[in-house]
Amino acid sequence: MDKYCSKCGGKLVQGLYSIRGTLNDSTIDDKAIGYKCQSCGSVQFEDSIIHKILLKNKSNIVSEFIPVMINNIGQIIEESELSRGEIAKALGVTEQRISNIINNDNIPLVLTALQLAYLLDVQYEELYTIKYISPEQYYNLCTYNTDFNQVKELVPVYNKLYDNKILSNSNKLTKEKQKELKAEKKALTEKATEIKESLDYDYIIRKGNSMLKSNWQKAIELGLITGDNE
Ligand SMILES: [Zn+2]
Repeated sequence: MDKYCSKCGGKLVQGLYSIRGTLNDSTIDDKAIGYKCQSCGSVQFEDSIIHKILLKNKSNIVSEFIPVMINNIGQIIEESELSRGEIAKALGVTEQRISNIINNDNIPLVLTALQLAYLLDVQYEELYTIKYISPEQYYNLCTYNTDFNQVKELVPVYNKLYDNKILSNSNKLTKEKQKELKAEKKALTEKATEIKESLDYDYIIRKGNSMLKSNWQKAIELGLITGDNE
């Protein structure tokens, strides 16, 4: 069936045309099957084609770039009419936990974060904004004022330390094995503390690849990352 131009009514011819533009904050720059008007020369694409290119583009970003979560919670709470104490009470957690969430010492469960967003009357994305940065920029963030190897070393220590499956089932083990586990946990805690203290934690990508908004802005000012990350 022939297709006709939506602008001038001229006949459209199918071909491979360059497609450029943005959709949902993603930039498209590719070639795609489209239709060119024989009269006015305008090129048109079907929506499904744009969508397919967009998904391909997103796959590239997600597989090649590293996600960083910017934590805006502190600022949102400050601007809200609720105190940390009131928020803690409503969520049924301690005030310390709220502080930990604000400082990125702790990433809340999705459910808790959704409740927090509801409580503060904001969208979930306002609490945590995701940014995708190149591996080079990620490396810049990790190595600023610190030793990247220490950061790499810290992660497995933490993972092991917080793998509570073994520890919570330790009552099923022999007294001797329990003692051994306790000693291992103590050693790991000491090791983690030692590494942590040696780092300038302000600029480190924290647990769950998260960063405070203020540090993200500072990293841009310092030229560690560019400000044009999506
Ligand atoms: Zn036309």
